[in-house]
This record gives sequence, structure tokens and C-alpha cells, in this order.
Amino acid sequence: MIEELKHGVRRISTRNEDEISSLLQLSARLGAEPLLVQASTGNASIKLDGLLWIKASGQWLADARERNILMPVELGRVHQCMDRDQDIGTDFACPNRDGLRPSIETSMHAVLPHRVVIHVHSINTIAFAVQQDGPSLLACRLAGMRWAWVPYAESGLPLAREIQRVMDFSSGSDIFILANHGIVIGAEDCEKAEELLREVERRLAVTPRRAPDPEFNTLESISSALHWCVPAGTTLHALGSDTISRSIVMGGVLYPCQAIFFGPCTPVLRYPVRVADVRTRFADFAGASSFVIVEGCGIIVNGDMTRAESAMLTGLAQIVQRIGDLAQVRYLEGTELMRVLTANTGDYRGVPQKTVPSFSSPHS
Ligand SMILES: [Zn+2]
Repeated sequence: MIEELKHGVRRISTRNEDEISSLLQLSARLGAEPLLVQASTGNASIKLDGLLWIKASGQWLADARERNILMPVELGRVHQCMDRDQDIGTDFACPNRDGLRPSIETSMHAVLPHRVVIHVHSINTIAFAVQQDGPSLLACRLAGMRWAWVPYAESGLPLAREIQRVMDFSSGSDIFILANHGIVIGAEDCEKAEELLREVERRLAVTPRRAPDPEFNTLESISSALHWCVPAGTTLHALGSDTISRSIVMGGVLYPCQAIFFGPCTPVLRYPVRVADVRTRFADFAGASSFVIVEGCGIIVNGDMTRAESAMLTGLAQIVQRIGDLAQVRYLEGTELMRVLTANTGDYRGVPQKTVPSFSSPHS
């Protein structure tokens, strides 16, 4: 792996090789935990001799032991781009010789002073990060830790600027909770970064609410009429069978990846519905999402659902199962949502952009 990374860049010292190797090992460990990372989300970086070694766009942290997921970017080049108010991504219109482009979060990693930076979409963290009173809830749980709340900002330059602004007020922070997004940890080395993340996870752990069992017979009847599928297991069905979870997810978009992968609205088949009417009702949803909630029963999914969509949907179900019925949820607002849907992040992350359906508003 290190041999691959040496390709095309200046010689890497043995010490730096060890550090990059540690980052790859850490990336693989984090990427293998669905409660931390789903599909290609999350990224990790290390600053070495003026280079920022960062996960490339669209790569999966989980693959860090099998293939080259890191690429070097000159830190000076990232800062120059920021000075020109330009995202580093636009400087890499063409991928490097390995076919890689830097992560959309490269600027955010560059502005943090820490040598090692990890960013994950932790299920437990997001369950707090989407609540209006997230900061006060976290103040109790993270007491004694050097943490800061980062108000929602769009990925890329806006988020880098926001985290920079927060650092100006809370220098010394090494834990950043990104509203409606996830968590960023900075540390001197991989070991300390992982230690911090594990401690935050321990403090923010929430036991998911138990959902009623799915109505598999009903789901099978509906899905067979549509040539869709019924997911195995029970986790995903909580989105439809659990009243609180269903209400939260129907209320709007909790975080950008939800909209990028599943569109701005969650399609719902009201129940009871006559199987004979399902096709007619379903026509409204065509192309809107790769899953549909069947009220009170569970969900059905398009047979073409990708591995990434499946991972993202599992993450969504796990997040809403950790949000209480009295929580004041802060959904993405209209302009924030529109920016996510028009920012071409789908292409950036290697997933198709969903069309914007017209059958209902995000808050219907
Ligand atoms: Zn992210």
C-alpha cells in the first residue's frame, strides 16, 4: 500500500511511512463500524512535511487495507485556493495519476491545526447534532472535554470557514460536533484521535428505541405488486413500523446525505391501502427514492438499491431510533436543502443525484 502511495510523489521518510500506515489502519477500523461510517462518508487525514494526506473523494474508509484511498495534496495549495475563495476540488478538475480527487472536506482538514484529523458520521453523535438543543444536551455529556459546536454549514469551503470561525472563539478544541452532519476529531497522532473518538462515543451512546415488529405479510403483498423487495431483518423497518421514527423522518431532511441518497421527501404509503390500489398510489413516488415507507408496517425497497444506499438507509434508521419523541428536531432549511441538492455532491460521492419529486414538500 505504501509503495502505491509513493508513486508520483516525493520520497516518503520511514517515519512518515509509519504514520501513513497508522492512518490507513485507523481508517479501516473506523470504516468497518456502521455506527461510525456509512458507505463513502467520513474521511481522515494527516499533515506531514507540508503535505496533507487525505482520503480521496468517493473512496470508502473501510477499503483502506485493500487499496489506495489516500492522496497527497500540498497544504499551501489548499490555503491558496481558500484565499481565492475557491474550493480545492475545482483545482483538481482532472483527477491525479491514480484517478483520485481530494475529498470534498479537504479544506476543513487543512484549516484544523491538528496533525491527524478524523471525521465520521457517527450515528450517536448525529442523533444529538440534529436537535435544536443539541449544544445543551452535549454540554452535560461531554463535560470536561475540549469540544465545540459548529453550526450547520454546507460541506466544502463553507464548512471549512465555519469551523475556522468556531476555532477563533474556542481555540484548543479538539472535538467538533457538526450540526446536522457528524463529528470531527483532531489530535497529534492516530492513537490519540481514536482514543478521543472512543470516549465521545462512550459518552454519547444512546440505546435505540425498540420498534414494533414489521408486518411482513403486508409488505410482501405490496412489494410483489410493484416488483420491489422487502428488506430482511428488522432494523430498516423501524422507519415504517415505529410511529416516532416515522414521524421524525417524514418531518424533513436531517442531514445532507439523507437528501443526496434519498431525495428531499420520504415517500409514504398510507395504510391501510388496498393492494389493487398500490400501483396507482405508487406512481406518485416513481423515481423519488429507493425506499418507500408503508405506514405502520415497515418499508419496501427498490431491487436496484446499491450497497451504498443500503448502508445509508440503515444509518438513517439507526439515527431516528435514537431520537426521543419530545426532541425538537432541527431539519435542513429550504435554502440549505436546495444547495445540497444542486451542489452536485452526488457525482462527487459517486452516487446518482435523485430527482426532486413534486408530490409533497419536505414538511408535509
Ligand atoms: Zn461528512
